[in-house]
Amino acid sequence: MSEARRTVIAVASGKGGTGKTTVAAHLAVAAALSRKTILVDLDVEAPDSLGYFPKASPTGEPLPAMVLVPRLDESKCSGCGLCAKTCRFGAIVAIGGVVTVDERICKGCGRCVAACPASALGEAAVEVGAARAYESGGLSLLEGRMAVGDIRSTAVIEAAKRAAASTPAELEIRDCPPGVSCSATHAIEGADCVVLVAEPTEFSLHDLGAAVELARGQGLPVGVVVNKDGFGSADVDAFCASRGVPIIGRIAFLRARAASGAATRLWSEDGSLMREMDSILARAVEATKARMPA
Ligand code: SF4
Ligand code: SF4
Repeated sequence: MSEARRTVIAVASGKGGTGKTTVAAHLAVAAALSRKTILVDLDVEAPDSLGYFPKASPTGEPLPAMVLVPRLDESKCSGCGLCAKTCRFGAIVAIGGVVTVDERICKGCGRCVAACPASALGEAAVEVGAARAYESGGLSLLEGRMAVGDIRSTAVIEAAKRAAASTPAELEIRDCPPGVSCSATHAIEGADCVVLVAEPTEFSLHDLGAAVELARGQGLPVGVVVNKDGFGSADVDAFCASRGVPIIGRIAFLRARAASGAATRLWSEDGSLMREMDSILARAVEATKARMPA
């Protein structure tokens, strides 16, 4: 498989705590045995996939994720308020001809700068997080992490995606933010398929439905991995059947696995688990082929 044909599998979930990161990390470990693989942590508010790789070593300096925020030149500003009307995020206000920019919530879209008829808005770069590459036993790792106190996750996600794209790999596995937020949307954008991790609980199923819709809204094939299979009472099979979503893997609930997961320890010596990972990978890669140009 050439670099141009990199396959990108987004591992996501309807809600947090389903074992999404655990599945992503083990898929990456299984994949790395047979092909050049990168695990990309896009859960930038709380990246924790590196916890599974305590011997990982950085392969370079952190790459800052920047946002261009507007800076006002008061001497040029007429106070017309057009900039404030243009901002969809409420990050810039003009009251009584006085313009104020709230840089903490500015997304750096540049619309206000382009809209200003007096060229009174310039731009200044501010750092909102960083992406950093690591290596562990032949597996490439890339972690996106937001700056403390910042809320501009999408800029960090996009920076991490760019950094991952410049790292040689045949297979990219993304650990995406849970839920259906803007962050989750950015994280799965550009993937070839989405693997949704769900638990057999009613709460998990409710959110799973929304996650399925998010992935389908991007035209992506979706498969579900049932984690802690046999633990809860919700009928994941019936739920997935009713929505036409294939179940592509099951991870049986075992107390030893739960303990390892809680301690962020790899279970790579767990033969049946790793065989299941191989099977999930095969089905996910197969699902992407239908979308790829010949
Ligand atoms: S659009 Fe430009 S001139 Fe008008 S209020 Fe905003 S910064 Fe001032
Ligand atoms: S750059 Fe975009 S988000 Fe920031 S203040 Fe201007 S319009 Fe709003």
